[in-house]
Amino acid sequence: MSAARLDVWIFVEHLRGVVAGHTYELLGKGREIAGTLGGHLTAVLIGNQVQTLAPTLGAADSVLCVEDERVAEFTPTGYAAVLRALVEQGAPRLILFGATSMGIDLASLLASTLGFPLIVNCKEIAIEDGQVIATSQMCGGKLLCEAEASGESVVLTVVPGVFPTQKGISDHAPTVESPSLPALLEDVRVRVTRLIEPEPGDIDITKVPILVAVGRGIQRKENLPVAEDLARLLGGTICSSRPVVDQGWLPVSRQVGKSGMTVKPKLYLALGISGAPEHLEGMKEAELIIAVNLDPKAPIFDIADYGAVVDLFELLPPLAAEAEKRRAVR
Ligand code: FAD
Repeated sequence: MSAARLDVWIFVEHLRGVVAGHTYELLGKGREIAGTLGGHLTAVLIGNQVQTLAPTLGAADSVLCVEDERVAEFTPTGYAAVLRALVEQGAPRLILFGATSMGIDLASLLASTLGFPLIVNCKEIAIEDGQVIATSQMCGGKLLCEAEASGESVVLTVVPGVFPTQKGISDHAPTVESPSLPALLEDVRVRVTRLIEPEPGDIDITKVPILVAVGRGIQRKENLPVAEDLARLLGGTICSSRPVVDQGWLPVSRQVGKSGMTVKPKLYLALGISGAPEHLEGMKEAELIIAVNLDPKAPIFDIADYGAVVDLFELLPPLAAEAEKRRAVR
C-alpha cells in the first residue's frame, strides 16, 4: 500500500524577479492545511536563475527549485511536464495554484494528464475527516458550490485576494532542493510571444488604496475629468468598467473585472456602474464599497457597503468641493 499523502504544494508565480502577491496568500493557506494534515508545505519554483526568490518563500518548509534556461519563459505544456514529473515523484496530497491565466492553464493540464480531481475558483479549502472539501465560486461569484474531492492527490485553483497575504510571509529560511530539469520538453507547442502590460508610465491600479471607478453612466469621455478630480482630491486614482475601456476613453490597464484587473483597495467608489458579475469579480473584495447609481435596483447595491441613488453629475461637484475643503484644513 502506498504511503499516505500529506504534503501540500504551492506553485509559485513570478515575473521579472518578483513573486506574485497571491502566491503568499496560497502559502498562508497551505501552511494551515499542511498543519491539519500533518504534512510538509513545499513551494515549487520554476524558471531560470530564480533561486534568489527562494528566501522570500519562508512560509514553506522547503522550496523545490527547477532552474533551466529551457523553462526561462512560461509555456503551459512545458511547465506542466516539469510539474508532472515532480508530482509523480513527490506525491503531494494537494497542489494549489492561483486562479490566474497561468494557474488555470497549469492546473487543468496537470490534473488531466495525471487523472487527478480538479476544483477551480476556490474561496475556501478545508480538510474534514481526511477529505478535501472546497467552496468554489461559479458564474463570476454569483453562486458558491461546495465540492468534495476523492483521490489521493487533488489539484485546486484559488481565487486571488481571498486569503490574507501576511500569513504567507515569514523570515524563516526554507530548505532548497534543486533537481535538474525532470522532463524532456519535446512537446512544447505553445509559446508566449508577448506580455500585455500597463501602458508605460501608467499607474498599477492593483496597488492603489483609493479607486474611483466610472462606468457607462459617465456617458462620454469629456466627463472623465470630474471623476479624475475627485480621485485626485481623495488621494486615489481612476479606473473603470469595461465599456469605458472598449470606447477607448481609458487604457485597458484601468479596467476592473473578469477580463481586466482584480483590485482590493481600501475604498472603491463605483460611479454609474451597474454591477454585472464580470465587473464584481474584479472588485468585490474591496474593503469598503460605495456605489452611486440612478437605478435603485442596480446589482452593485447588493454588494455595496453604502449606496446613493442619485445622478452622479449632481453628486460629484459638491463631493469634490467638500474633499477640497477638508484637504485645505489638513
Ligand atoms: P452598464 O451595465 O450599462 O451600467 C451603467 C450604469 O450606470 C447603470 O446601472 C445606470 O443606472 C447607471 N447610470 C447611468 N447614468 C447615471 C448617472 N447619471 N448617475 C448615476 N448612475 C448612472 N465588464 C467589466 O466591467 N469588466 C470586465 O473585466 C468585464 N469582462 C467581461 C468578460 C466577458 C467574457 C463578458 C461577456 C463581459 C465582460 N464585462 C466586463 C462586461 C459586463 O458584462 C458588463 O457589460 C459591464 O460591466 C457593464 O458596465 P457598466 O456597469 O459600466 O455599464
